[in-house]
Amino acid sequence: MGRGTAAGTVCFAVANQKGGVAKTTSSISLGVALSDLGYRVLLVDLDPQACMTFSLGLDPDQLERSVHDVLVGDAEAAEVVSATEDGPDLLPATIDLASAEALLLTRTGREYALRNALEDLLEQQAAAGTPYDFVILDCPPSLGVLTINGLTAAAEVIVPLQCETLSHRGVGQLLETIADVRKMTNRGLQVRGILPTMFDARTTHSRDVLDDVAMRYELPVLEPPIARSIRFAEAPAAGRSILRTARRTRGAQAYADHAKSLAGEREAAS
Ligand code: ADP
Ligand code: MG
Repeated sequence: MGRGTAAGTVCFAVANQKGGVAKTTSSISLGVALSDLGYRVLLVDLDPQACMTFSLGLDPDQLERSVHDVLVGDAEAAEVVSATEDGPDLLPATIDLASAEALLLTRTGREYALRNALEDLLEQQAAAGTPYDFVILDCPPSLGVLTINGLTAAAEVIVPLQCETLSHRGVGQLLETIADVRKMTNRGLQVRGILPTMFDARTTHSRDVLDDVAMRYELPVLEPPIARSIRFAEAPAAGRSILRTARRTRGAQAYADHAKSLAGEREAAS
């Protein structure tokens, strides 16, 4: 996994233990934008609430198998991956995933469950000549076993941050977890940077919050910020990404810009 594997697949974890900061929206939007650029993309829903799965038009209650079965070893990823209307493939979640945390706690190597499953999947794909170019992991709003699995499988972490006062609370704890993961399970893990979300360009406040967090934690800020837009709130219920429902909004365009830079780096590295 990660950069530099034979398959050349690049894996990102989108993580922040705070809920509602646009982890799921960012994961989906980047995935769809990369798929629009012609890349093969796998999205992985690591949240028992299954918002990503629902937002991509699948009904979590109707799914027989999910990433839960993959993590506990009852299914291979290839058996569970599903195509979506918006382009990327999806390893979906269901509420079953809520029990994965407890089940995994009793197992040796629990932090590696996702990484191993994805490696198997990518090997099978490489043999068939069609490996994913990008894998994006949508982490849950906690720093438990599921997020650790995401951080262990990824090459880089993207940290969405809502640009409001006190939104930095928790970033320090996330960085400590990332430091632990580097020590224990994934030496090469990089923090790509903070992705400013729900950004209000009309006030200087958003920019001030952002500059403060970037300085405090010495993290790069990924430009451009994602503007706040009501259109984002409408997309999940439609089961489609904002890149499909409102492609021309500034937020959608900003995600497309980020996808272009991810794609550019991948090309430069290969
Ligand atoms: P998380 O996965 O971090 O919990 P979500 O991606 O589910 O966050 O986003 C939380 C809520 O904010 C959702 O209702 C989503 O539609 C909305 N949202 C996300 N990005 C924006 C944005 N740029 N502008 C307005 N609302 C947004
Ligand atoms: Mg989410």
